[in-house]
Amino acid sequence: MQNASELRTNEWLRDEAKSLWKNFFTDAPKKNMITVQFGRPAKARLGSIRLTRKKKSKVIMNGLFRSTHVPQQVVQGILAHEFTHYIQGFGSELPKLSLHPHRCRLVDEEMERRGLGEILEFQKKWIKAHWENVVKKNLPRKAKKHIRRRTRSSFFQRQIRSFLKTR
Ligand SMILES: [Zn+2]
Repeated sequence: MQNASELRTNEWLRDEAKSLWKNFFTDAPKKNMITVQFGRPAKARLGSIRLTRKKKSKVIMNGLFRSTHVPQQVVQGILAHEFTHYIQGFGSELPKLSLHPHRCRLVDEEMERRGLGEILEFQKKWIKAHWENVVKKNLPRKAKKHIRRRTRSSFFQRQIRSFLKTR
């Protein structure tokens, strides 16, 4: 990771979310409050939205997006993806538009309809080209674990591991 002073903050993320909503979602129904924050750095999940018991929609963004090496448009693309889930009734109190949140490109089509097509395309391309590297650089332990799993471990190592697992 970069120096802490160079990393994006939750405040930055909230501002980003506000202007994104203002620019692309103002006409969308807003039934309950949305909060946005960075979560843990993770390999696979870029963002998520869920409805809390207090009926707030909580958007959590991958902690790796704190890095300014990840383009702003990528963060915008993922935020917009979660907002689209919100207006389609996933992680919000609005009526569900389909059985499954990702059915038939529903999210992508809604984003394109809202003028977010370019951001979406950029985000997808960038993730495809660079994400693996970002993960490798910033989550070194996970990367190592991955390699270790592939190499054969000795009988002794396996014994210790299974002992630790059962505790
Ligand atoms: Zn999704």
